[in-house]
Order: sequence, then structure tokens, then C-alpha cells
Amino acid sequence: MATASTTLLLSLAFLAFAWAASPSPSPDAEAISRFQEYLRIDTAQPAPDYAAAVAFLRKQAADAGLEARTLELVAGKPLLLLRWPGRRPSLPSILLNSHTDVVPSEPNKWDHPPFSAALDEPSGRIYARGSQDMKCVGMQYLEAIRRLRSAGFVPDRNIYITFVPDEEIGGHGGVEPFVSSKEFKDMNVALVLDEGLASPGEEYRVFYAERSPWWLTIKATGAPGHGAKLYDGSAMENLMKSVEAIRRFRTSQFDLVKSGEKAEGDVVSVNFAYLKAGTPTPTGFVMNLQPSEAEVGLDIRIPPSAHVEALERRLVEEWAPPSRNLTFEFKQKMSVLDNFGKPAMTAADSTNPWWTLLEEAVKSADGKLGKAEIFPASTDARYFRKIGLPAFGFSPMANTPILLHDHNEFLSKDEYLKGIGIYESIIRALATHEDGGKDDESRAEL
Ligand SMILES: [Zn+2]
Repeated sequence: MATASTTLLLSLAFLAFAWAASPSPSPDAEAISRFQEYLRIDTAQPAPDYAAAVAFLRKQAADAGLEARTLELVAGKPLLLLRWPGRRPSLPSILLNSHTDVVPSEPNKWDHPPFSAALDEPSGRIYARGSQDMKCVGMQYLEAIRRLRSAGFVPDRNIYITFVPDEEIGGHGGVEPFVSSKEFKDMNVALVLDEGLASPGEEYRVFYAERSPWWLTIKATGAPGHGAKLYDGSAMENLMKSVEAIRRFRTSQFDLVKSGEKAEGDVVSVNFAYLKAGTPTPTGFVMNLQPSEAEVGLDIRIPPSAHVEALERRLVEEWAPPSRNLTFEFKQKMSVLDNFGKPAMTAADSTNPWWTLLEEAVKSADGKLGKAEIFPASTDARYFRKIGLPAFGFSPMANTPILLHDHNEFLSKDEYLKGIGIYESIIRALATHEDGGKDDESRAEL
């Protein structure tokens, strides 16, 4: 009895000691746990829990001292609009955009459940769907603002932060209607930051344009015939000639990437999405019959620098000529031009003062920007560029494999924390408006 009570007393004393000695969590540890909390909200398409994400983010915004409004431009698709008021609100504003939805995952192929936000202590990796694409960026904006506010910084211009729905399914319920809304016009946005990609090397990647998707189907018709007969002009023969020509073109583009002559975003990519032909039976296909129809589906991505007319001519003359009984149809054909007829790209050189500010801000936070690139796929940034706004795609993740949409998507906590510092520097630079002075002529235009 006596022994048991002594043990109990000792245990209690130890617990009290341990409790008193445990330090309160560091600001970094708190930032990490807020990131994990956001990652744990299941916002995977096709049924994202937007209500939970918006409730969490509104709480974060309140803690960071930001004004918040929830817009619902499409029913059931909340878009959270936050504002950090500048002391000179008539200046053009900055918009920091991120999307709240994520792509689905196959949990059984992950080492940690995709919405556990498990922190692997030895490696410092946080595993979660959205850890790279792009809940990291949204939270880094907010963390950077918290730090700037507690350092007493006040922006000159208004800083807006948007958390938008549906990027992963095309942005039709999010940024697409947003850019034509009255709310957006009233914001007087001058520059948008949106998502980029992780970089396995030391340099951060930054994107100034995107390739435009062309989704194309080519259909062939031809005389049907016995499977034993050799004759010209069958649908399959007509289509396969096109497939061969398309493959040659694909190889020529891919070779430019393989040789290092061009970056992935600078070439026209062509990939076969499906092939459809044959006469089905309950167990397979009729084997002794040449079908009268055959079809191929292509996913083509065009950089804004591409010669579009030449490509269209190639399509009509070589890939789908009527002389071979071929027809084509675009399921999607996005223009490479903005609404003013110019290639939809943002200048990433000294002609654009925003670029200079961005580059210097990253540098002064001990980061390095790689050469600006064309994003190989599509993001919401295209809607901003379409209406003529400059937009850069940037997600500060160096030394990180590209795992967006992949199994075991992760971001290390050190890279995440470093990214907060990068945004602190960027937001400070972009928010500051310098009047007068000798070399401020270009800045005065901002
Ligand atoms: Zn994304």
C-alpha cells in the first residue's frame, strides 16, 4: 500500500514537473500546426468540404487582423476574399491568390493517409494532399502577413488575399466568374501572384505564362470490308496515317526538350488521350471486319509563343485532311492571346517593375529565382492574364520533388517555413509605394 502511494506521489510530482518544464510552442511550431490543420480539411474534388475550409480560413484571417468577405458567385462555391487595407487605398492593389480545392487521391497507395498531414519527424516531411498544390501557399501568405503585422509593418497599397474554389476542375465556379465580377473590378488589382511548381534544385521556379489546352478529336470514315481484304481508304488506314504524322510531330517537339534546347513549357506537347475503333461483341471485338469509323482524341498544349496559324494549317492539311475522309472537332480550344489580342504572358524582365521588385525581394530573403518559365499545364492565373493583368506563378518550394497530383505529396517543414520568410519579403516589397526619388520613375507607375 505504502509503496503504491509513494509511486503515485512520485508520478504526480514528475508529471507536474514535466508540465511546468515543457516550453510553450514556438511561433514556428504554431505555424506548422496551423498548416497541418488546413491540410486535414478534406477539400478533394469532386466533393470538397468548402464550408469547413472557409470557416477555418475566416478564423485565421481574423487572427491575422484581416477583413473577410465570402463571395458565392456560383452557388455552393464559396470564394473567400480577404483584405489588408493599405494606408493609401487609391493605389493599385496586389492580389495573392490560392485555391482551396485539391485533386482526389488513392489513399491505399500512400504511406500516410492523405488528409492526416502526418509529420515524419526524422525527415521533417509533412505528407498531405495539397501540401504542394497549393494549401502551402495560401497559408504562407497568411503567416507572412501575421509576421509583418507583428513587426508593425503597414502596407501602402491594399493587399488582397483570395482563397478560391474549383481550380482543379477548371475554375469555372471560381476565378473565371470572379474576374468579371464587380467585386473584382472594385479591387483595382495591378498584380497577381498565383501558384507555381516545386523545384528539385536550389532555385525557385517562377512562371510568366501558361500553355493553352487544345483538346481535339479526329474522326476517320472509310469503306468497311472483310478482314482478309487489302484495300485502300479504310477508316483505320486513314486514321493511322494521321496518327503517324502526329507522332512524328510529337517526337520533333519532345526532342527539343530532351536535348535541352527548349524547356517543357516552350514546346507544343501532343499526347494521345484515346483511340476508338472496332465493332464490339459481348466478349471483345469482331476480328474479321474492318470498321467504317475510327477516332483518336488528343491533348495538345500550346505555348503563347507558338505559331498558331502554322499549327492549324498542319492540322487541316496533314493530321485531318478531308481528302482522307477525316474530320476534326475541338472539345476545348483556348486562345493563346489575351482579350486585347496580345500573347497572354507577363513580362519577366526589367521592362516590368513588378518583376524587378519580385526578384529583389526573393533575393533579399536568401532565395534565388530560376529563369522564368511557361507553366506546362493550366492554372487560374490564365484568367487574370486573359484580362490583361500581370500574373506570376510562384510556389516557394526548393529542394523538393514535384509531387503535385502524385501519391505521397509532401513538403518539408523547413521549406514551408522558409517560404513564409520569402513571402514576408515579397509582400513588404510589393506593398510599399515609393514616391519621388531619383530612380522611382518606373515605380511611380505601379
Ligand atoms: Zn494548383
